[in-house]
Amino acid sequence: MKAVQYAEVGSAPEVVTVPDPEPGPGQVLLKVTAAGVCHSDIAVMSWPETPFPLPLTLGHEGAGTVEAVGEGVTGLELGESVAVYGPWGCGTCLMCSRGSENYCLRAGELGIMPPGLGAPGAIAEYMLVDDPRHLVPLKGLDPVQNVSLTDAGLTPYHAIKGALPKLVPGSSAVVIGTGGLGHVAVQLLRALSPARVIALDVSKEKRELARKVGAHEALPSDESAAEKVRGLTGGVEAVFDFVGIQQTVELATAVAGVESDVLLVGVGGGVAKVGFGIGPYDMSVRAPYWGSRSELIEVLELARAGVVDVHVETYGIDEAPKAYERLHAGKINGRAVILPNG
Ligand code: NAD
Ligand code: ZN
Ligand code: ZN
Repeated sequence: MKAVQYAEVGSAPEVVTVPDPEPGPGQVLLKVTAAGVCHSDIAVMSWPETPFPLPLTLGHEGAGTVEAVGEGVTGLELGESVAVYGPWGCGTCLMCSRGSENYCLRAGELGIMPPGLGAPGAIAEYMLVDDPRHLVPLKGLDPVQNVSLTDAGLTPYHAIKGALPKLVPGSSAVVIGTGGLGHVAVQLLRALSPARVIALDVSKEKRELARKVGAHEALPSDESAAEKVRGLTGGVEAVFDFVGIQQTVELATAVAGVESDVLLVGVGGGVAKVGFGIGPYDMSVRAPYWGSRSELIEVLELARAGVVDVHVETYGIDEAPKAYERLHAGKINGRAVILPNG
């Protein structure tokens, strides 16, 4: 089958032919209908060393139809359309028992890695899923339109859900970086809270998209941004940083008000200064990772209710390297989705 792989440190993603995978005991084989392209892959491909073996089949946002099941797998119909919950865990530790496999306490020790971030990923004609519990039936939802909700939807949902108690009527929320994750975050904030939503991005196209999907304001993310946001709000109740470089982390804490939540989601390596007398009283800064299984189900329900709509650009599998190039260059408005069998 065809797969898009990151072959060695420093190389660009390439389309290769690999053996067709077969499901072992307990596994499920999916024929991939859609796979999203996330900026985290670009971050991973810029690291001087990877924490997993290469070559790696990319893609940690996946959806497909059940093609075959391994020994012992029950409860799935062949041909059923499903989305893949990506942050696989051990399934039995305290966090996994709560459905928070993203915070599995034993994944490191057991060498369990998400598809596309260690295990073979979704940008391929077929993908193996280690356990049927990682699958959520799409029940009529379009896989192309909704595959990115498995990360670009789930990750902001998890971050926003934790901050909802702060987002009371009259409050404001700032979204920094309205790309794949950020443009979904704007919609989730509008759907789940009465907060005034202020989007900040360096790109005019991304600001236009933010406004189109519901941001009340969309301002350039520049040196004057913090002052402008403070002028509009006096300090906001929640900030979601989907860039995470030093400059945006400083912007995030500069616009945060007293008792605010600052959620650093982007993996840009920025560090926040927190301490008594530094910044507003009682600001809490968190760095969340992905989301829980039940939260994925909830996000898909929001799509079913018609309140989140991912802005999607589609590509065939042969064009996947081009999609990564365009993402790297900041040219994808919304999310690039690969159709490996399309
Ligand atoms: P993306 O490229 O689609 O979006 C990034 C956006 O940030 C773009 O719109 C870009 O114009 C904007 N931007 C760049 N520099 C900026 C600046 N200085 N100020 C304001 N905006 C700026 O990327 P994505 O796929 O949405 O991913 C966003 C980030 O989230 C990445 O760092 C990714 O690795 C990370 N991520 C983290 C998790 C997690 O669990 N913590 C999960 C998924 C992705
Ligand atoms: Zn991702
Ligand atoms: Zn676990």
